[in-house]
Amino acid sequence: MTKVLIAGFKHETNTFCSLPADMNAYRARALYQEGEVRGNFLNTRTEIAAFLDFAKTEGWGIRHPIHANATPSGPVKKDVFDFVCDRILDCICDNEPFDAVLLCLHGAMVCEHTEDGEGELLGVIRGRLGPDVIVAATLDLHANVTDRMAELADILIPYRTYPHIDQYEVGLEVAGLVKRALNGEIKPVVTVRRGSMLDGVDHGRTTMPGPMTEMLKRAADLLSSPDILNVGICAGFPWADIHDAGPSVIVVSDGVKAAHGALAELLVQDIWYKRQISTIQTMSVDDAMLQVKAFVYSNKPIILADFSDNPGGGGYGDDIRLLRGMVEANLQNAAFAAIYDPVSANLCVENGLGAIVHLSLGGNTDPERDESFEVRGTVKAVTDGLFRLEGPMMSGLRVNIGTTVVVSIGGIDVLVTSSRSQVYDQMYFKHARIDPLLKSVIAVKSAHHFRAAFQPIAKEIILVDGGGVTSRNYCEREYKRVRRPIFPLDIF
Ligand SMILES: [Zn+2]
Repeated sequence: MTKVLIAGFKHETNTFCSLPADMNAYRARALYQEGEVRGNFLNTRTEIAAFLDFAKTEGWGIRHPIHANATPSGPVKKDVFDFVCDRILDCICDNEPFDAVLLCLHGAMVCEHTEDGEGELLGVIRGRLGPDVIVAATLDLHANVTDRMAELADILIPYRTYPHIDQYEVGLEVAGLVKRALNGEIKPVVTVRRGSMLDGVDHGRTTMPGPMTEMLKRAADLLSSPDILNVGICAGFPWADIHDAGPSVIVVSDGVKAAHGALAELLVQDIWYKRQISTIQTMSVDDAMLQVKAFVYSNKPIILADFSDNPGGGGYGDDIRLLRGMVEANLQNAAFAAIYDPVSANLCVENGLGAIVHLSLGGNTDPERDESFEVRGTVKAVTDGLFRLEGPMMSGLRVNIGTTVVVSIGGIDVLVTSSRSQVYDQMYFKHARIDPLLKSVIAVKSAHHFRAAFQPIAKEIILVDGGGVTSRNYCEREYKRVRRPIFPLDIF
């Protein structure tokens, strides 16, 4: 019987964020072992679910020792890295031999002891299993893919959508190539190339025509060649000050040929030519409020996205500038998700439903910006923060955002949560009995993923840059480790 090991270890590391990805951060989002992995992922639109489904169809024997994922933040602590590696190594030791390892990775993980987290992980696994066992992984479209990752893996395939709504399909693709490799039909090899760019391909956006959709079309056309098994386009993650940050092209080929490297370089050149084309247009809080007020409210909400404090990119999730702007603009029939502030959430729980509370809201976690919002509000709802996603992204997945309250501040229902979380599903509101469709204005802490669930109900979408840690102001940051010269820091 074919035997495969399935594991997940994800993190998108923003090296400008001071919050570490420690054990508590992993426990807060996902730290599942053994049977918990299957229990949490079956019937979800995720890579792990795809691996499990594929293995079942093929009759593969499987072990799934661990899946670990934390909300993006600063670097992953070494004890977390060692814990995950130990679970995988113990599983290999107890159940070998394995024919293949299927990994669900992000590709932009920086650890406190290495800036190439996935390369290090693959090194540990490859070091234990040797060169003959197939090692394959899914990657996020925002992976910063290193040469070491390409060298150590047989198959690397990134998502093709942003918002990432194809995680399940990419999982199936990886498993499909593993099957062909195990059958001896192919000998997959990974080649990666990157250019002198920190940012590019429109940050990977696929919801509108632009550089990313054009590159994906080119990549798809190349699959007509029988020795090209997959061509992945990664936008990279620019908020990581590491040597290899930035867009890359991954070719998975059947066997090594110099032509595959040349092909990847050709595609990188295309990304370079289009590096300045961007569909991302943000505005200040003040301008956003003027724009909201200029709209005539209809039966669809205006969506405000707090682009520069996106916990999904390492934002602290407690920046209060957009919320304060909305309160000062006296917006009515609005909802905001969410401000990360466990102290305020607990205070509201202690005071109880209907209580009038005075809060120093948010602004506690960014050491460079100690700015809370002094507010008076009414506790409108209290939840345990547990629900299942229902939108196109990771549909069916159970999430836990911790004790959550809804505080009514002026005309705005504000979710205050006990853990940091990007808002990319309507259930963040609905689980707290807020119907987004009935609101005039909805604000979310998210850069782009929110579009998966909210674009279909939006009258208008406005991206707001309040100057948080996920602002696109790269030139104002001090990059020390990224290769130079690089666009847009040195080259334009
Ligand atoms: Zn991503």
